[in-house]
Amino acid sequence: MNTTSAVLTGTGLFKSYGMARALAGVDIDVTSDQSLAVMGPSGSGKSTLLHCLAGIERPDSGEVLLDGKRIDQLREPARSELRTAFGFVFQSGQLLPELPADENVALPLMLGGTPRRAAVEQARQWFEPLGLQGLEGRRPGQLSGGQAQRVAIARALAGRPKVIFADEPTGALDQATGMEVIRLLVEVSRGQGAALVVVTHDANVARWCDRTVEVRDGRLAGDQSAAQAGTDAKAGSRR
Ligand code: ADP
Ligand code: MG
Repeated sequence: MNTTSAVLTGTGLFKSYGMARALAGVDIDVTSDQSLAVMGPSGSGKSTLLHCLAGIERPDSGEVLLDGKRIDQLREPARSELRTAFGFVFQSGQLLPELPADENVALPLMLGGTPRRAAVEQARQWFEPLGLQGLEGRRPGQLSGGQAQRVAIARALAGRPKVIFADEPTGALDQATGMEVIRLLVEVSRGQGAALVVVTHDANVARWCDRTVEVRDGRLAGDQSAAQAGTDAKAGSRR
């Protein structure tokens, strides 16, 4: 076995929507200390891959393992356990407009059974590391796009998930704001020991990640580790 074991593994993943084949046999593993960028053209199957790995959609065939246990065949209520193992960041519009930022962040904790007060207290601890101090009481409509994405990152992290999935998290942001958001996302995920899977078609976003895979027509076409030049970079230079 490797020293860094896979937290999440997809094997032989196929998925079609009617006649449209979205995944045509993908094998992929995500290690717990890794940020993985999934790149590829529009319609290549990136989101479908993310959804299958995250248990949001069921592959037609193949297996998905989380910590060595199959999750692709789970039914409720076992499936609901995945909600604490995984955190999600989407392109935009994922916050509830009627709730202040801190309650948006607390929501997954409350759904997981944490009482409201404790959940909001825990949620607020994420505001400073994400540069959001003072914005706890703002509603999403009173936040900039970048601030809203940072609140979404806080929400994804609040449940201390094993894996964070982000689908085009910078897609609705300008370049500078997007870079700040991806930098924070990679940094806080790493700080929490959470694996990160980021779907993006922006090479500048992928550059922040440890590894990049390329999806073409539902298959993996390339797999590159950013640390290939020096494997010691992995153990040493990270904070
Ligand atoms: P990407 O995220 O790379 O843009 P997707 O995974 O969303 O690609 O889509 C891959 C293919 O599957 C596309 O041809 C898309 O039209 C199709 N597809 C994805 N989701 C659905 C769906 N819910 N119903 C029908 N077709 C879908
Ligand atoms: Mg997509």
